Amino acid sequence: MRNLGAYAANAISPRVRLGVTGLSRSGKTVFTTALVHHLIGVTPLPVFRASAEGRIRRAILDDQPDDAVPRFPFEEHLATLGEPHRRWPESTTRIAELRVAIDYERRAGWRSGPAHLAVDIVDYPGEWLIDLALLDKDFASWSRDTLAASRANGRAVIAAPWHAALAEHDPKKPASEMDIGRLSDLFKVYLTALREGPERVATTPPGRFLMPGDLAGSPALTFSPLDLPPGAEPAPKSLHAQMERRFDAYRTHVVRPFFRDHFSQLDRQIVLVDVLSALDSGPLALAELEDALDRVLLAFRAGSNTLISSLFAPRIDKVLFAATKADHLHRSDHARLEAILRLLVDRSLRRTRGAGARVETMALASIRATREASVRSGRETLPAIVGTPEAGECIGDELFDGMTEAAIFPGELPEDPHAVFSGAIAPGALRFPRFRPPLRMPDAAGRLPPLPHIRLDRALEFLIGDRLI
Ligand code: GDP
Repeated sequence: MRNLGAYAANAISPRVRLGVTGLSRSGKTVFTTALVHHLIGVTPLPVFRASAEGRIRRAILDDQPDDAVPRFPFEEHLATLGEPHRRWPESTTRIAELRVAIDYERRAGWRSGPAHLAVDIVDYPGEWLIDLALLDKDFASWSRDTLAASRANGRAVIAAPWHAALAEHDPKKPASEMDIGRLSDLFKVYLTALREGPERVATTPPGRFLMPGDLAGSPALTFSPLDLPPGAEPAPKSLHAQMERRFDAYRTHVVRPFFRDHFSQLDRQIVLVDVLSALDSGPLALAELEDALDRVLLAFRAGSNTLISSLFAPRIDKVLFAATKADHLHRSDHARLEAILRLLVDRSLRRTRGAGARVETMALASIRATREASVRSGRETLPAIVGTPEAGECIGDELFDGMTEAAIFPGELPEDPHAVFSGAIAPGALRFPRFRPPLRMPDAAGRLPPLPHIRLDRALEFLIGDRLI
């Protein structure tokens, strides 16, 4: 019924809801800012056909459709990127929305003439998608799985303080708010350490514990798994019953509304993936990234697998997985980066048996912070990139001050993408410093050129090109 309503509304005033997601620091804020900048600036985008054919007459920011969702602070982010700050904007920690209203000319044909499309961009943390798994779990089985994973190799050490606190509390006895808060805090410390540790990405739900949005501190976000014996029943007022109630509140008041009100309303989706940082961090990080991709793909298939999630069946028909920050590599390595992402997504598609939508992969840079150069080393000429590393970045024993440009040889990705799983990239072999956003020089009339990018136009063509013909 909902989809029928959406279909009817769409026939009257055409719109497309585009989801932008990815795990923390994958590049969502930068992507959304760049996308809106190019759309409303009607900048030349050769692979985005409506733009290349000169059919976009005007694109403006318009009132967003959902009054209860925070607006994406586009203007603020764009200003941060420019002088005098030239800094990257603050990252996404919650859902935000923005509407771009496009007036365009239809392609010549039986439907030619002026037309209108509203593009609603919804930017949300990928960690929230991982919570879908909780909808089909009860507190006892979630506790069991989470504790078993926390005892695995490499994790037990960082989980030790939380495990010790759990051992001090009997789940059958009541606990004070202070005790519950402490257990929950230590569980969060463990989740944070997982993300900052060798695994780099966070695939352990609850996703909101690390990306709380507006709900930080509420009981629905203050709980922890418990070490329960098999078949344990919660006695009234016991710690077990208290934690279970909060876990259920989290599912009812946090997870379900997100999938029902936001996720299931999306038409198109881009998933940003920081493949380079996973490659740089080693095999554990890569394995976690694969796990995260599985979970994201499962969310796209929701509805076909379980009864509960069928209530939130997404209507997404196109998903783009994009390896971000491709400007950290020389052009000669872009195809290899793309091949690695393709392989990761293909493996994931096989495991999760499809995404229920058309899937495409590409490597892009939403904002290109570097340019290419060739550096002579002895008799060899090496492809390098040139940019301004941020203050405090280090390569070898060189410490950068944030003002000086440097030519960097980022290292080579293997030709065979399978090799990344067998340790082809030694830890520390790649050099991916954080670069400052690009310096843009005004032209004679004082106008700034558009933000440079790599393949953002190709991404746009895939995501909304077919809605502008
Ligand atoms: P979010 O947490 O997914 O919203 O991630 P952000 O969009 O805030 O990006 C995190 C960081 O990645 C930024 O602060 C930049 O340092 C870097 N970054 C993101 N996109 C690009 C890009 O296109 N090029 C470069 N060089 N760095 C990027």
